[in-house]
Amino acid sequence: MKNFNFKTATSTKEATKLFSGRAAFLAGGMTLLPAIKLRLAAYSDLINIKKIKTLSGIKASSKSLKIGSASTHVTVASSKEVIKSIPSLSFLADGIGDPQVRNRGTIGGSIANNDPAADYPSACLALNAIIHTSKRKIPADKFFKGMFETDLKKGELIEAIEFEIPEKSSYAKFPNPASRYAIVGVYIAKLKKEVRVAITGASSSVYRSKELEAALTNNFSASAINNINISSADLNSDIHASEDYRAHLIKVMAQKAVSNC
Ligand SMILES: Cc1cc2nc3c(=O)[nH]c(=O)nc-3n(C[C@H](O)[C@H](O)[C@H](O)COP(=O)(O)OP(=O)(O)OC[C@H]3O[C@@H](n4cnc5c(N)ncnc54)[C@H](O)[C@@H]3O)c2cc1C
Repeated sequence: MKNFNFKTATSTKEATKLFSGRAAFLAGGMTLLPAIKLRLAAYSDLINIKKIKTLSGIKASSKSLKIGSASTHVTVASSKEVIKSIPSLSFLADGIGDPQVRNRGTIGGSIANNDPAADYPSACLALNAIIHTSKRKIPADKFFKGMFETDLKKGELIEAIEFEIPEKSSYAKFPNPASRYAIVGVYIAKLKKEVRVAITGASSSVYRSKELEAALTNNFSASAINNINISSADLNSDIHASEDYRAHLIKVMAQKAVSNC
């Protein structure tokens, strides 16, 4: 393990003040610590943010659901507010990794990391989320920039994620049997003004499928997807699934998600 300074912040202000040089915020450590141990990343300072009380808490209103960034996956999965207002989000959180990962990993860490196969980024895009940071509010459409890349600036801390409450929504994932990361995951939300479809695991970063959104806007049913041919161009191909298989899975998972809405 490389040497680094370990600092604990008790407020957002302190966390951003402590952030200097090659620093990183440490939430659940489920991604950051293996990256350091495997020498894929090196930092001079780790700023522990788990003691910041304002990063916890889940609040629902009639229009939105706001989740503190340090909420663990198990907290989101078991929250009464989440189950009542957006049950598909609880379902998504319950399907992340294994019990150890769900007990340590956080929603903020997941979206800051923006792994191409992570689950939460698809929920953020489909549920038209607003990412509240120490500096500003970023719409999900502008937040996810590419593989492991977001719009966050150096030292910018995610404080909360605010999801629009949909009329209906569902998440269908075809998981990697070992890690449970998505080989393909499709999140569908029927919002008050639009239908949104977000896809994870299939490409270099989460994205919205405009063709599925158009089809489901006309007819919100699994049969509306029957005649759509998903192109495999630009899709991932690896030892787990070829690009053609992923294209097929997008269609199957989308039909499953709509049927479950
Ligand atoms: C075995 C295994 C299986 C997994 N399976 C899945 C899965 O099925 N689906 C899935 O989606 N994920 C999966 N994950 C990832 C898991 O969800 C992690 O919880 C997540 O990637 C990172 O969250 P964390 O809180 O541990 O963040 P950390 O590892 O602490 O941090 C990750 C990155 O985010 C930054 N960061 C953390 N919090 C903030 C914040 N509030 N503001 C700004 N930056 C921040 C850190 O500086 C770091 O760069 C798996 C991980 C493991 C180890």
